[in-house]
Amino acid sequence: MRTPRAGQSDAVSGGDASNDCIFCRIVAGELPADIVGRSEHAMAFRDRNPQAPVHVLVIPRRHVDNAATVEPDGGPELADMVVLARRVAEDEGVAESGYRLVFNVGEDATNTVPHLHLHVLGGRRMTWPPG
Ligand code: AMP
Ligand code: ZN
Repeated sequence: MRTPRAGQSDAVSGGDASNDCIFCRIVAGELPADIVGRSEHAMAFRDRNPQAPVHVLVIPRRHVDNAATVEPDGGPELADMVVLARRVAEDEGVAESGYRLVFNVGEDATNTVPHLHLHVLGGRRMTWPPG
């Protein structure tokens, strides 16, 4: 059996559901969310403060602090997240027009929720560089 490293735990079984992590609690069904997709390792739900017509968060079911704590063996989980993001983009009708995928890490990037999440943003023209 895989032993979670520091900063990671198995939320599939609800093992981390009693903690204070709001996204683990969404995975465990303890907090409501507008869920738009699921995959083997991940789930997708609408951001409660959308920054674009399409703004969905894709998160791993198990707790991972952020993109800076991902290890090389996290590859399948990350690929699963990106594939789910593509499915969300297709379902939301922005796969052709384009979309932006964002991981925020740390203060300067305004990361606020300490559970890894991939922002899927689309439905409007994005700016570059980002604000
Ligand atoms: P970040 O700045 O990358 O940490 O983004 C965290 C995102 O999570 C923000 O866009 C919030 O609007 C969003 N968020 C926080 N709590 C919830 C929640 N309970 N349901 C949906 N989105 C949330
Ligand atoms: Zn968590």
